[in-house]
Amino acid sequence: MINQIVIESFNEKIFVQRILGSVEGVKQTPTVIAIGGIHGNERAGLNALLKVFQTIEEENICLNGNFYGIAGNINAISENIRFKNVDLNRIWTKEEILKLYLKDELEIESEEQNEIYFIIKDILNKEKGPFYFLDLHTTSSDTQPFIIISDSLNNRRYSSNFSIPTILGIEEYLNGPLLTFINEFGHIAVGFEAGQHDKEVSVDNCVAFLWLALVAAKCIHKKEVKKYSYFKHSLSLFKEDQDFYKIDYKYTIKPFENFKMIEGYRNFEEITKNELLAYSNQREIHSNIKGKIFMPLYQEKGNDGFFIISKISKFWLKVSLVARKLHFHQLLRLLPGVKLDRRNAYTLIVNPRTAKFLAIEIFHLFGYRKKMVKGDNFYFIKRDRKISEFI
Ligand SMILES: [Zn+2]
Repeated sequence: MINQIVIESFNEKIFVQRILGSVEGVKQTPTVIAIGGIHGNERAGLNALLKVFQTIEEENICLNGNFYGIAGNINAISENIRFKNVDLNRIWTKEEILKLYLKDELEIESEEQNEIYFIIKDILNKEKGPFYFLDLHTTSSDTQPFIIISDSLNNRRYSSNFSIPTILGIEEYLNGPLLTFINEFGHIAVGFEAGQHDKEVSVDNCVAFLWLALVAAKCIHKKEVKKYSYFKHSLSLFKEDQDFYKIDYKYTIKPFENFKMIEGYRNFEEITKNELLAYSNQREIHSNIKGKIFMPLYQEKGNDGFFIISKISKFWLKVSLVARKLHFHQLLRLLPGVKLDRRNAYTLIVNPRTAKFLAIEIFHLFGYRKKMVKGDNFYFIKRDRKISEFI
């Protein structure tokens, strides 16, 4: 297993090791933890983190709280591939964490996970909250920067500091991403997608995002960041409002399926109903709804072909905010066919007939996201949580 490497990335030689940098602030709080390269072919975040740590050192910038930078899948980074055996951003479940404790020999990505997990655990134990987690990514298609969060109110509040599109609820469609795992302990966790993998501007966008994120977390004062307004401006240059989006559809690529996206789609591009989007084993795939195309896949690895998203109305956002603040979600479990999971106070077990009758949107409104289907039942997990001890 490789622990440190020098790579050529964006025409620079960079030194990648697990802890890319760490700075202690004058106060104990807050703590910002940023991760770059959890997907090994998404290097922009690594360059950006190293640049930000370098600037902090060179300009002798004083931080209030603590700031850590962690490298993701170092073995995959060394080969510029998304992952070696399994996607490091799809194995953050309690079952997989338990395996880290039980197994003597770990697979390569589990080794990586093991190191990252214990670093995070250590930081959570030794520092004081609030904790802010930032996960830096890039995409295979051309895109403007955007944010992905689980729909908790603290995540929503934090991400409204960045005037870029924000996508809610991707965790219903993905298994085991790091940020969802972190969220379950009540911490703020934001995924930032900076642009296309190989474009220089993706590094600039990550740098801008990191400074803005440090200021928004109150880890650093605005006046300490020389180019603050430039960074703010550069991220919002894309003329897209701070709109929130929901995911309406995901196309999953099956094993051994030959999937080919139609060339040239930009992220967020409008699509019509019945539009030809891709080929699967030479068969045409048309969209069954209209909306905006999201994360169309233009690389070999990965099994999310594309998503279709639509804008969430301001009214819905407001209503769901009020409903959650007033704890209206407690009414949900009084309904027939809905019961509280005795082992987990954040989980509702719902029978499919009730789920159909109520529509999943109602659960979304109250801050619940469908986690899994077990037997005949749906399990909905609440996203707003109190801080709890990390496992
Ligand atoms: Zn990624």
